[in-house]
Formats: sequence, C-alpha cells, structure tokens
Amino acid sequence: MRKFKAYSVEEYLKIIKAKSINRKIIEIHLHHTWKPTKQQYLKSENKELVIFGMYKYHISLGWIDIAQHATISPDGFIWSGRDINLEPASIKGHNENAFAIEILGNFDIEGTGEYNDMGYDELEGLQLQSTIELIKGLFEIFDTERLVFHNEYSNKTCPGTSIEKGKFLRLLKPHWAEKYFVNLNRKGIVIHERRFDDPLKRGEFFAVLNQYLKPE
Ligand SMILES: [Zn+2]
Repeated sequence: MRKFKAYSVEEYLKIIKAKSINRKIIEIHLHHTWKPTKQQYLKSENKELVIFGMYKYHISLGWIDIAQHATISPDGFIWSGRDINLEPASIKGHNENAFAIEILGNFDIEGTGEYNDMGYDELEGLQLQSTIELIKGLFEIFDTERLVFHNEYSNKTCPGTSIEKGKFLRLLKPHWAEKYFVNLNRKGIVIHERRFDDPLKRGEFFAVLNQYLKPE
C-alpha cells in the first residue's frame, strides 16, 4: 500500500532542503481539495486513509501517483505526496516547473463556487499558518516568489472563492515587527515564535521589562 506521512512545516521543509532536486521549480501552485472537506478529514479516524483515498482516485484517472507534492491538513500538518522530482498533475500545460500544494478543504463560498451544495470551509488558524509558512519556505528553497492560484490558469474557482489572492499575498510579506524580532534575538533576548499579532499578557510584559532593566 502506498504510504503517506504527516510532518510539521519545519520537518517538511528540512526534508525538501536536504533533497537533491533535478528539475527547475519556478512556480508554487495552490489548490483546495474541495473533497475531502475539512469535516470529512477531522471526522475520519484514520487520517492517512483520507490521503490514500485521494491517491486512489488520482490513480483511477490514469495518473502515476497522487497529483500533488504536499497536502495541508486542517490541523496544520503537511502530508507527503508525489516525489518533488516528478512533475505534479497540477494544471494542464503548466506542470513542468511547478510545485503543487493542495489545502485540504472546500474554500468556495456557498453559492459562488462550482459545488455550492457542499457548503464551505474557512482557511484559518493552524492550517492558514502552515500554508503561509510552507509557501514562504518553498520560495526560499526554490528561489522564487511566484505563487499561482489554480483559477488563474483555468476557469475553475480553485483554491476557493473565499481566498482572495491580493489579501493572501499580503500574508506572505514579512510583518512590520519582523526586524525588531530579529534584532532582539540577535541580542540574546530569545522569542520563540513569530506570533506578532497575539496579545501580550501582563506576566510576559513584566518578564520583558525585568530583562530590559536588570537581566537575571
Ligand atoms: Zn485546483
């Protein structure tokens, strides 16, 4: 049986970085699975089987493997997919230099997509965070900044009418506070996460102030 494995974004990027890549990747393609939906995935007791189901469907279409290189689960994990040295079955006529990502879910707004009877999922939380981090990491590895939504090359709504490209691209830009984060880290004030827009607790403020005035 074809095996699939779930990784954190960090683990996944480490694996890609360590691989020798023998084709030129200049575009990152973004899709949604539509089906399975987020609910179908979350309800399933065997998550790998959900990915395997997609694989089986793609094989039935006569494809050599699952179409995409990576699938992003609703809880923010990256499922392995097709070998990155193989072209994806992403967008007809545009596969040669592409890396294909599927975000697991149906992101069409009810009534606007092709499949409006499905209702729709929201791209948010850990899944959104992983999507952003994965694309940023891939941009760095492949030395490109070209992100393509499926709907730019076809008349499909994929990756979903609720995901607006301009707004999405802004999320890929560094946060205005990034330079302060980097600078403080350099000075040994270690802040583990780039959660720039989360509220600061009083205790955290006291700790920072204490370190600033008289480091222990
Ligand atoms: Zn698509």
